[in-house]
Amino acid sequence: MKKRTNVLIVAAAFIVFLTSCSQSPKQKQETVKIAYLPITHALALFETAEELESKDGLKVELVKYGSWPELLDALNANRVDGASVLIELAMKSKQEGIGIKAVALGHRDGNVVIVSNDIQSAADLKGKTFAIPHRQSSHNILLNETLASAGLSIDEVNVTELAPTEMPSALASKQIDGYCVAEPFGAMGVSLGVGKVLFGSEELWKDSLCCGLVLTDKFIAERPEAAKELVADYKAAGNALNKEKAKEIAKKYLNQKDEVLDISLQWISYNDLDITEETYNALTERVKKYGLSDNPPAYSDFVRNDL
Ligand code: ZN
Repeated sequence: MKKRTNVLIVAAAFIVFLTSCSQSPKQKQETVKIAYLPITHALALFETAEELESKDGLKVELVKYGSWPELLDALNANRVDGASVLIELAMKSKQEGIGIKAVALGHRDGNVVIVSNDIQSAADLKGKTFAIPHRQSSHNILLNETLASAGLSIDEVNVTELAPTEMPSALASKQIDGYCVAEPFGAMGVSLGVGKVLFGSEELWKDSLCCGLVLTDKFIAERPEAAKELVADYKAAGNALNKEKAKEIAKKYLNQKDEVLDISLQWISYNDLDITEETYNALTERVKKYGLSDNPPAYSDFVRNDL
């Protein structure tokens, strides 16, 4: 009798085990957590989340952060499955041994060099103060390219790191003479009338890279099908983001005036978000040339274009 009871207990435990096996991985499969900052550079991610929300299956849980360092802490500690992030910051993490892969671009073009209204050319920036969000950014590279266009080097300006939201007001108060940062903060400076566009990114660096969609190695290894689906849906969402749709999404996710969004969305596009080896190598050349890193990760180690 005792033996029979034991058999029943084992059988019951096995059923509980099977039930939990069949439910919890399935539940986990349904949501992917992606970190972001509220910028127009992340609209393809927001559009992906919207598209998936209206369908069965995979969902994107968007996790908002207030700064790049906070977002990177979460990404590097696997508290999220991925992020829309400045690609140079992700490259730096990869270089430091963090298991992440860049699987798509965040956007194409979409950055501008903003200067105060009294600056007429790049040469006028000599001795002036210029703000970038982070040393590890395409904004730093674009500043270097701006200066190079006038035969100047980075040592001939004062470079300061500022939070993106502070840049338009810092320009208005003459604390800085120019800035380059993720949008819509360039457009905000133009809209406020405190600055003007000196260069668009495409004039300084054709096919420039800026943000990337990055996924953790853990997520890709544990949930390969979800990773594949997410990347395919993300690229499709980017291709579908015409100006009208982009504005609609931007209004929903960014607390910005219509005029600011209209200006900002003129500069950016979201189609063809593959990271090609050619454009990535053009980035790593600049990363080395302008001293962001001596040893950026190789394309084959860092980029997955096959998902
Ligand atoms: Zn960007």
